[in-house]
Amino acid sequence: MDKTLLLIKPDGVEKRVVGKIISMVEENKFYIKDIKMKKWSREEAEGFYYIHKGKPFFERLINFMTSGPVIGLLLEKENAVNDLRKLVGKTNPKEAEPGTIRALFGTNVTVNTVHASDSEESAAFEINYFFNEQES
Ligand code: ADP
Ligand code: MG
Repeated sequence: MDKTLLLIKPDGVEKRVVGKIISMVEENKFYIKDIKMKKWSREEAEGFYYIHKGKPFFERLINFMTSGPVIGLLLEKENAVNDLRKLVGKTNPKEAEPGTIRALFGTNVTVNTVHASDSEESAAFEINYFFNEQES
C-alpha cells in the first residue's frame, strides 16, 4: 500500500484543530499506521527541509517549524501521495481550494497548518527522517 507523511505544523496544534484534521484524513480513507508528536531543534527542522536551503523563505520556515511541537502521521492508502496533496490544498491558504485543510485552517503562505510529501521519493525520505530518527 502507498505511504505518505502528513505533518501537523505548530499552528495546527496551537489552533486546537488536530482532531478535525485527523477526522478529515480518516473520512478520506487514509489509514493511520503511526503517529508521533515532537518538538524539532533547528538542526532537525533544517534537515527535513534541506531541499529549501538558501531560498528566501528558509529562515522564516525554520523559525516557524521550531516554534512549537509538530505531529507526524504515517498514512496509508492507494495513491496516498497525490490524494493527500489534494486534501491539503495549495501552499498559500488563500489560493487553496475550498474545503481543503489549508483553506480551512491556514493563516498565510508560511503558517499553513500542514505539510504533505510531494512524491513517493520524498515520502520515503520524510517518513524515515521523522519516524526512524537515531537516538543521539
Ligand atoms: P508545500 O508545503 O506546499 O509543498 P513548498 O515545498 O514550496 O510548499 O514549501 C515548504 C513550506 O515552506 C511551505 O509549506 C510553507 O510553510 C513555506 N513556504 C513556501 N513558500 C513560501 C513563500 N513564498 N513564503 C513564505 N513561506 C513559504
Ligand atoms: Mg513541498
